[in-house]
Amino acid sequence: MNLKNSLNNLQFDNRFIQQLPADLETKNYCRTVLEASYSYVLPKKTNQPKLVSYAKEVAQLLGLDVKECETPLFTQVFTGNKLLEGMQPYACCYGGHQFGNWAGQLGDGRAINLGELLTNKGEHYTLQLKGAGITPYSRRADGLAVLRSSIREYLCSEAMYHLGVPTTRALSLALTGDSVVRDMFYDGRPQEEQGAIVCRVAPSFTRFGSFQIYTTQGNIPLLKKFVDVTIRHDFPHLGSPCKQTYLTWFTEVCQKTALMIVHWQRVGFVHGVMNTDNMSILGLTIDYGPYGWLDDYNPNWTPNTTDAGESRYRFGNQPQMAYWNLVQLANAIYPLIEDVELLQQALKVYTDSFEQQWNKMMINKLGLAIYDPKTDEGLINDLLRVLQLVETDMTIFYRNLALLNIDQPNLEQLSDEVLLKPLIEAYYQPNKLTSEFKQQIGNWIRLYIKRVRQAEISDNERRLRMNAINPRYVFRNYLAQLAIDKAESGDFSMVEALLALFRHPYDEQMDKAYYAEKRPDWAKTRAGCSMLSCSS
Ligand code: AMP
Ligand code: MG
Repeated sequence: MNLKNSLNNLQFDNRFIQQLPADLETKNYCRTVLEASYSYVLPKKTNQPKLVSYAKEVAQLLGLDVKECETPLFTQVFTGNKLLEGMQPYACCYGGHQFGNWAGQLGDGRAINLGELLTNKGEHYTLQLKGAGITPYSRRADGLAVLRSSIREYLCSEAMYHLGVPTTRALSLALTGDSVVRDMFYDGRPQEEQGAIVCRVAPSFTRFGSFQIYTTQGNIPLLKKFVDVTIRHDFPHLGSPCKQTYLTWFTEVCQKTALMIVHWQRVGFVHGVMNTDNMSILGLTIDYGPYGWLDDYNPNWTPNTTDAGESRYRFGNQPQMAYWNLVQLANAIYPLIEDVELLQQALKVYTDSFEQQWNKMMINKLGLAIYDPKTDEGLINDLLRVLQLVETDMTIFYRNLALLNIDQPNLEQLSDEVLLKPLIEAYYQPNKLTSEFKQQIGNWIRLYIKRVRQAEISDNERRLRMNAINPRYVFRNYLAQLAIDKAESGDFSMVEALLALFRHPYDEQMDKAYYAEKRPDWAKTRAGCSMLSCSS
């Protein structure tokens, strides 16, 4: 079996468009699309496309010979200028609740699916260009993407993957050679920026809003057809679609979503726009827009300026928002199940599995194996309280907590000051650590020592476990901005350096310690580093 195909050898099996109804209008203008799941549309030709970067792991996943990524054909295909045999580009129709309100038809406004690649292993992957021009779903926008947001999507998708967080992937990042006008903060200061295209890859890009659209249109036959196709393609292990399968399917979506959110909370990722059109049916992190990473542990933080007022999608609210979104999905599929109680039971699976997995994740972050509610509820709650008393870098805190020498007898009898020492690097303003604070963290550390001793875990074992779940390197907001600043002036070295760094986020990497440092002061209030808008 040849696992390394050339571009021209890739096989496409476009099941989605074969099995779902197409929009009969084939002209490309913005409109409401009814009775259809997608519209045929061609990517816009780009002027002077230039490949910036590609992810070799994604090429390998697709069974594409990595050498092919360096060819002119690759650049042409993944900037929309050429189609490979078997590609049939289309944009999907979907709706969504945006910030709690039903927004009607949204759809792929600037994403064009090239086709479903069928790998030699029999797996399907949809290849999608983001920023490839207008589609019937572009509403009043231009269908394009700028370099800064494309770098953010490209690097974050891959960083998340290597961190072990379920996510869509990114094959390539290219400049189009065309300029795009954006008013970054919607304050009347539009600027020309460089256009770019990311090729995203996922088994499917179906969203909660892909189902909601049919129910709100009153098109239950198409809703049923869409659910059936989703189950056959994306959940084949569930068997033939029927009422019972619909429930099992929804339950699995609840579980997958819970797992994704647990991972977000584990690494400090804040999505920023958890609208139902940005929720993947496969529980993948999707649509990297104004997301951010926690520097200091602050459950109230949101990176998205559009959400600054209510902070609906703040870090600490993500679990509740995912639940809210699942309720909307339950409402959408209700006509196929017609039993509120059964849907509520499935929703409870979300709450239960989230709680169970979150407890396990938190206890693993502390290097412990088994969650014991008697001791651990208090231990975890107290830690999360203490982490908020002063500005504490979340990533550094957990990494450095592993350094405590708990094997050392009588460690707990040492002073607060001494116990705190391994953690000092995590504090943004070490000179502001009052004796009252030191006492609080000291007491928590003593509680922790007691718990570790009770579990009889050696420092060695604890460190190994902690360093496998607490990353050393995350995609800090300011790192993204530094890479963008350089790239905008034509230097893509930092994009490549970060891509390489994030391949091994849990490993100590020689000479890369500066990438693990806490956010510098200048980045605290700079646009792009702590504040992002949806304008991309
Ligand atoms: P987002 O907030 O990025 O998830 O986008 C919400 C909706 O707006 C989706 O239907 C997007 O496809 C669409 N959209 C966002 N940006 C653009 C753009 N530049 N051109 C066309 N449609 C867009
Ligand atoms: Mg979106």
